[in-house]
Amino acid sequence: MSEAERRAAEWLKKGARMLPEACPECGSPLFDRKGEIWCPKCNKPIIGLPERVLTMSIEEESVLQRLRETMLSKLYGLEKRLRASRQVEEVTSIAQAIYILLSALDLVRKLMGETG
Ligand SMILES: [Zn+2]
Repeated sequence: MSEAERRAAEWLKKGARMLPEACPECGSPLFDRKGEIWCPKCNKPIIGLPERVLTMSIEEESVLQRLRETMLSKLYGLEKRLRASRQVEEVTSIAQAIYILLSALDLVRKLMGETG
């Protein structure tokens, strides 16, 4: 076992996560160590990689994508109901739902790195 492999195994034991990205300097697989990207071969943190690499796997991203589409379609429906609504209670509860959805959408957008 190489020095790098031993180090990587040690990190994994401590809860690090292997990333799909490779080290720009040596090509080793990179690891997410509690929010920092480390290369086991260079044995140093790698900076300059997009931050989303840390927090986002491909599956997570597609869940967020679907979530966003669902929330947008709900917002569309809520907007129509809000427009048709005549009662204060109804307007209030619809507005609350819209507020929550918009906050959630904002959060999703941030998680997705504001790209899409
Ligand atoms: Zn490296």
